[in-house]
Amino acid sequence: MGMSYAQSLSAFHLNGTPRPFSASFAITNKCNLKCAYCDLPNIKAPELSVGQMDILFKKLRKLGILRLGIFGGEPLVRKDIGEILQLAKRHGFFTSLNSNMLLYDRYKDVLSSVDYFFVSLDGTPEKHIANRGKQNYEIILESIRDIVQRKKKLTAICVVTDPDIVSADYLIGLAIREKIDVHFQPESYDAECAGRTAPNDLHQQETKKFWQYLLEKKREGAPITSSTAYLKYLINWHNYKESAVYDPSVRCMAGSGFISIDPSGTAYPCIFTKGKAEGINLMEHDWAEKFDKKTACTKCIVGPLLEYNLLFHKPVSSVIDALAKIN
Ligand code: SF4
Repeated sequence: MGMSYAQSLSAFHLNGTPRPFSASFAITNKCNLKCAYCDLPNIKAPELSVGQMDILFKKLRKLGILRLGIFGGEPLVRKDIGEILQLAKRHGFFTSLNSNMLLYDRYKDVLSSVDYFFVSLDGTPEKHIANRGKQNYEIILESIRDIVQRKKKLTAICVVTDPDIVSADYLIGLAIREKIDVHFQPESYDAECAGRTAPNDLHQQETKKFWQYLLEKKREGAPITSSTAYLKYLINWHNYKESAVYDPSVRCMAGSGFISIDPSGTAYPCIFTKGKAEGINLMEHDWAEKFDKKTACTKCIVGPLLEYNLLFHKPVSSVIDALAKIN
């Protein structure tokens, strides 16, 4: 993993041929929930078969990609999830799986090849259900305990919809009890995948204080995976109602360091740019040849994408803080 990242980093800084080290692959847009901040289940997309994924995975490895993030929609609604994960392993990927875990019990034995789990948890049970719809919160906790017992790495992902300190403290306490860690990421607005635009009552100062609070908690030793550089970036963001902006003096490494692939096998620099830039169908074309190194925006606070950008712009501190979590 380290070597793949280093090659990607040098290609980016030397302006060489794009050599992403990581891909996120939405194997389906379908989902068993309807979260307030996500519109993906409403976007119909043909899905690749396992046989077509075999071709896709070969191409990704040839491109230099070693880390494969499987997400959706909800990836566990695909009945062939076990075959997909085994195929990814056969191709030698380090795999992560993002899931709401409501179907975990059905598939737990075929998930043994996953290297890293990301589990959605938006705060207290009341907050989680308000954001993500009626469901059994206890099922998620049971799945977390089973994954921890199987000695797999796991991070809870909290989408921050408002500066809710009660929910943040609840998740930090839960992470300590369950021996996991937690990543906080702001809700994204104005993208094809986003469920809504920014609310009028989103307060700049309160939101800034929320991110400051998390940085203090992290410094006190709370199990917060979000890197220090990431939290500082969020504290200093100019307007939380804007998730991404174009600044010609800054380069984004989306497309050069990582790519995002939709269920049909069409790739974008990142999921946030889907709908703003034309995708490249990887079943027909080669990413390194077709990608023009341009991105619709260059600075963002889109959760995991910001962490990836910091890996390239502040490699030393971010690698120490964040890459250790996925290696
Ligand atoms: S700044 Fe880069 S990573 Fe962020 S949304 Fe725009 S293209 Fe994606």
